[in-house]
Amino acid sequence: MLVTTKEMLLDAQKNHYGVGAFNVENLEFVMAILAAAEELRSPVIMQTTPGTVKSAGLDYFYGMVSAAAARTDVPVALHLDHGDGFDRCMQAMKVGYTSVMIDGSHVPYEENIEVTAPVARVGKALGIPVEAELGKVGGKEDDGPAVEGENPYTDPDEAAEFVERTGCTSLAIGVGTAHGVYHGTPHIALDVVSAIAAKTDVPLVLHGTSGVPDEQVAQAISNGICKVNYATELRQAYTKGYMAYMAENPGNFDPKKPARAGMDEITKIVKIRMENLGSNGRA
Ligand SMILES: [Zn+2]
Repeated sequence: MLVTTKEMLLDAQKNHYGVGAFNVENLEFVMAILAAAEELRSPVIMQTTPGTVKSAGLDYFYGMVSAAAARTDVPVALHLDHGDGFDRCMQAMKVGYTSVMIDGSHVPYEENIEVTAPVARVGKALGIPVEAELGKVGGKEDDGPAVEGENPYTDPDEAAEFVERTGCTSLAIGVGTAHGVYHGTPHIALDVVSAIAAKTDVPLVLHGTSGVPDEQVAQAISNGICKVNYATELRQAYTKGYMAYMAENPGNFDPKKPARAGMDEITKIVKIRMENLGSNGRA
C-alpha cells in the first residue's frame, strides 16, 4: 500500500538523511526506481509534475505507482510535484496521491500564502502532507518557460512565518539550485539551508538536484534538507540507455528491449543517489 511522505520525512529529519523523490514519466521509470529502492532497502517517493500528468492522467500514474507499492515491502509514496493550483491538488488527493506540492513560488509572498494555505488545510483534514515553496528554484520547471535572471535565496525569517501562516508540512527552498541542465557547477548556499532549518520545524526540500555534485547534496542534508528531487538526470539516463540499444540493434522493433536498457540506466543512477542521501537500509 502507498504510504504518505509524513513519516518518511520526519524520520529523515530526525536521523539526518534524505529521501529521494524521483520523477516518473512512464511504467518503465516506476519499475526501475522501485528496483533500486528494493535492492537498497530504501524508502522512496515517486512523483509527477502536472506536465507529466497531462501526458496520461493522474489515474494512470496512481495505478502504476500503487501497483508498485502493493508488490513491495519498502515504503512508497506518490507525490504531486509542482502542483499548479488548488484544483489540481484536490484532484490528486481524490485519485489517491499520498502527498502533494502546491507551488505558489511564482507569485508574491502574500499571494503565495493565499494559494498555499487552503491546500494545506484540506491536506490536514485528510491526513495528506502538503509541500509548499518559498523563494525561487531557478531554471526551466516542468514545461514552463525558463526563468531568467537572479536566483533569490529564501529568507529564513520569512520561511518561519510562511510555515506558520500556511500550515504546510514541508518546504521547498531556494538555495542556489535550478531545474533542468546546469551550465557550470551549481553551488548550494549551505549557510542559507542551515539558517532556514534553525528557524523552521518542517522538513526542507531541495529541488533541481540533477547535476548537483553528490558531495554538495550530502552537505545540504547534514544542514537540514530531508527530501531531494531528481528529474532531469533520470530522463537523460533512460534516453541514453534506450538510444544506445537502438544504435546497436537498428533492426529491433520490440519496444521492451530498448526500454529494459533505459530502465537499467535509471536503476543504476537511483542507487547511487540513494546511497549518497543515506536512505539505504532505512526501509
Ligand atoms: Zn522542482
